[in-house]
Amino acid sequence: MNSTPSRLCHKCPSFTFIYIPCPNVKVHSHKYVCAACDAFHSWAPSPETIQNHQNRQNQIDVALQNPKLSDFERRFLESVYEKRHLSPKQKAMFDKIMAVN
Ligand SMILES: [Zn+2]
Repeated sequence: MNSTPSRLCHKCPSFTFIYIPCPNVKVHSHKYVCAACDAFHSWAPSPETIQNHQNRQNQIDVALQNPKLSDFERRFLESVYEKRHLSPKQKAMFDKIMAVN
């Protein structure tokens, strides 16, 4: 039960959503439902995905302080900052930048 999307429920005047697992759905691990009327709001990332993303953002925050970072590396890190999932190519580039800086 955490993080609520800042939207109004489409079926009632509630702003409160509950983050719950949905074990019977193959492609989505969690979802948001309205706390008042139970209406489906949206699919949600797994706790692991959220955690991995936060860890990566922390690494990027630290890396961006590094004056030795090239313009390309800086732009790349800024471009993937908000992404929850990186492509294999982006992941390889990210790891490479983290390894040398
Ligand atoms: Zn509702």
